[in-house]
Amino acid sequence: MYDVVIVGAGCAGLTAGLYAARAELSVVIIEKVFPGGQIARAHIVENYPGFPDGISGVDLAIAMKEQAEKHGAVIETATVTGYDLEGDVKKVITEDRVFEGRTVILAMGADYRELGLHAEKKFVGSGVSYCATCDGAFFKGKDVAVIGGGDTAVEDAIYLSKFANKVYVIHRRDELRAQKGIQKSAMKNEKIEFVWDSLVDNILGDAFVEGVRVRNKKTQEMKTIPVSGVFVAIGMIPETEDVKDAIKTDANGYIMTDTWMRTSVPGVYAAGDIVQKALRQVVTATADGATAVYTAQAYMIENE
Ligand code: NAP
Repeated sequence: MYDVVIVGAGCAGLTAGLYAARAELSVVIIEKVFPGGQIARAHIVENYPGFPDGISGVDLAIAMKEQAEKHGAVIETATVTGYDLEGDVKKVITEDRVFEGRTVILAMGADYRELGLHAEKKFVGSGVSYCATCDGAFFKGKDVAVIGGGDTAVEDAIYLSKFANKVYVIHRRDELRAQKGIQKSAMKNEKIEFVWDSLVDNILGDAFVEGVRVRNKKTQEMKTIPVSGVFVAIGMIPETEDVKDAIKTDANGYIMTDTWMRTSVPGVYAAGDIVQKALRQVVTATADGATAVYTAQAYMIENE
């Protein structure tokens, strides 16, 4: 049995792993894809302290993984299929194995929100993408559209402007949600054009994306914008489907914790983007991870 079983090797999970290992607790981090989580898809992170010139998301993720492992955290690749979190021995069930822990830290993060269009699914891999950093280079010299008005959408647009001929940012309001600094860079980028108050009604094409049909919410006017790529950046959905019956979540599925990162179940903590909170950034995810371990440790001492 481990002292701490962490689910998810994003920034929150890796930091929790580092703190647990440094506290000489036995710790395993279970990750279904690759360590780093969302940050591994960010082409540059400029708001994590300590990197005055910014750092690529992949480099930051690799550094966090190496640091956690160097101190003794073990990362296992497995998909969690269920949980048994009540009682003194918590169980995290994967396809091949059951991980038992005195405490569990849930740090599964969040996954991409989809537009919900039939054509969106059809064109994944042939023009529709959820990761500009992963797929942007395929659109060299082409026209592309980014859907959304948050930090991700606007940062993606700036990133894509390095490759694309033109980048349309299609947003459902006439005001961006993105941070002002990011907005400013996008506004002065000549390759970026904003399409305000507009919803994507359909994605057009035969084998590959050839355009998007958008509807102006104010005028109801429909227009077709010819593009070869559509980058969907309309936010995230927390990965709480498997755990939401066992742990208290809010109406949007985010796990509710107190400031010590305690969930509704004793001995179970949550950290990072999966938590209901105001600001989802690397810096808040890492802070959650550290706090969760601190509280888990106090719980183990109390229950010894
Ligand atoms: P977000 O902040 O939730 O923004 C989602 C955007 O998509 C919003 O503009 C929203 O419109 C729009 N949207 C949502 N559902 C839609 C739909 N069905 N159809 C059309 N548009 C839709 O998501 P995010 O940009 O991925 O950011 C997630 C979190 O990560 C945020 O806390 C963000 O600050 C953080 N983040 C930070 C950085 C950074 O600091 N460098 C980079 C990336 C992300 P409305 O505005 O009208 O709601």
